[in-house]
Amino acid sequence: MFPAAIRQIALRPVLRQRPLSVSASQWTGQDSLVDDDPKVADIISREKKRQMRGLELIASENFASRAVLEALGSCLSNKYSEGYPGARYYGGTECVDELELLCQKRALDLYGLDPEEWGVNVQPYSGSPANFAVYTALLQPHDRVMGLDLPDGGHLTHGFMTDTKRISGTSIYFESMPYRLNPSTGLIDYDKLRENAALFRPKMIIAGTSAYSRLLDYKAFREICDQHNAYLLADMAHISGLVAAKVIPGPFEYADVVTTTTHKTLRGPRSGMIFYRKGVKGVDKKGKEIKYDLQKRIDFAVFPSLQGGPHQHQIAGIAVALRQATSPEFVAYQKQVLANCKVMANTLMAKGYSLIAGGTDNHLVLLDLRPKKIDGARAERVCELCSITVNKNTCPGDKSALVPGGLRLGAPALTTRGMKEKDFEAVVGFIDEAVQIAQGVKAQTGNLKEFKAFLLADAGTQSKIADLKSRVEAFADGYIMPGFQDR
Ligand SMILES: *Cc1c(COP(=O)(O)O)cnc(C)c1O
Repeated sequence: MFPAAIRQIALRPVLRQRPLSVSASQWTGQDSLVDDDPKVADIISREKKRQMRGLELIASENFASRAVLEALGSCLSNKYSEGYPGARYYGGTECVDELELLCQKRALDLYGLDPEEWGVNVQPYSGSPANFAVYTALLQPHDRVMGLDLPDGGHLTHGFMTDTKRISGTSIYFESMPYRLNPSTGLIDYDKLRENAALFRPKMIIAGTSAYSRLLDYKAFREICDQHNAYLLADMAHISGLVAAKVIPGPFEYADVVTTTTHKTLRGPRSGMIFYRKGVKGVDKKGKEIKYDLQKRIDFAVFPSLQGGPHQHQIAGIAVALRQATSPEFVAYQKQVLANCKVMANTLMAKGYSLIAGGTDNHLVLLDLRPKKIDGARAERVCELCSITVNKNTCPGDKSALVPGGLRLGAPALTTRGMKEKDFEAVVGFIDEAVQIAQGVKAQTGNLKEFKAFLLADAGTQSKIADLKSRVEAFADGYIMPGFQDR
């Protein structure tokens, strides 16, 4: 990311006591990526162009800043530091100790958490390992967990299994019973959850979503947990940036443990964090203080139970993103995400589309294409050919995850590129055009395979796609692209 600057520092002869002794044949590791490995450099360069020329609407994606990418591409990647600051299994950790403590402090500060009451582990490699560390810390094998079912908007790691197969490790090592949406409202069915929890008696309930456009009722989750002495794990992976900016309510008032990714709305590097309560939990019958015992168990689960050396380059990236997230610009960004998403929802509905849950309170909308006689797989494919990146998504009641009924559309990435309300009206216009192309082709073809082949073979369809694609790319070209120096 910064070869020129590093090279200058690394090779500056005035700083050296002795002249560099480099023989002609010696490997110095100083070649740039493009010189060292043109093939990989080319793939990265094409991916960079793909990100810039298209409309990125995947709700879990974002564009990290140049500063975050520089931290990720730094020498911290070289360093082993198993253990925790002040208690490492390796020498030479004085810099990374300082870094990890700084990252922890920034994490607690950003969410307004008192270090007497909350602690944080910043070592999980990503969101999935963070969740599995929480289960490892707080559950015994075969203990019972309840999370939102994957087809209803939950995450794989919340215990996903099918009728015939345990898919997620969470369902392999623990017993999982999902809760679901009320299919008529598209909202989480808290009554059913309460009823089923009374029968299943979970040890943990997970409140968190990957594809849900409304706010969670953390208080209701807490009450259900309290009835069964269960832990409440809030997984705010998707919404942690919105929570940091305080534009939607966060889970900290009610949850025992909060996990998050750092690369979604938080706009940092790919990584994960675990927040846990500490200090006094309450008093027993004799008036004696009961203390939380989560810190030791969670830290131990992350390392040494599940992970080895922490990725300090990621931790540096998180620290950078956390500082950025305290700025007024970041708060304005998250407000704009909400405003843009509302416009996306309203424009879609004005064009006759239906949305699951009837609208949005956060950064994403779930488009139900079933009334339009088209499915998410076909619409996703046409969008992709037109440089609009979306993902297909199940609607309540869908049987197939490969050919589901809807699309998930998120505002964070395009908002990072500087798009405002009127831009999102235009974006919806492009999506609508792509859906119409998909509808037309579906009417002339059979199964999904035939549909996809027809898109590439039929001259009339190809010219429609080429026309839309060129307008989409011309439109996208007009916006900034954080993280890329040559832009
Ligand atoms: C994205 C996500 C995760 C997992 O994140 P990875 O970094 O992909 O492992 C966990 N939980 C929820 C709710 C998510 O949306």
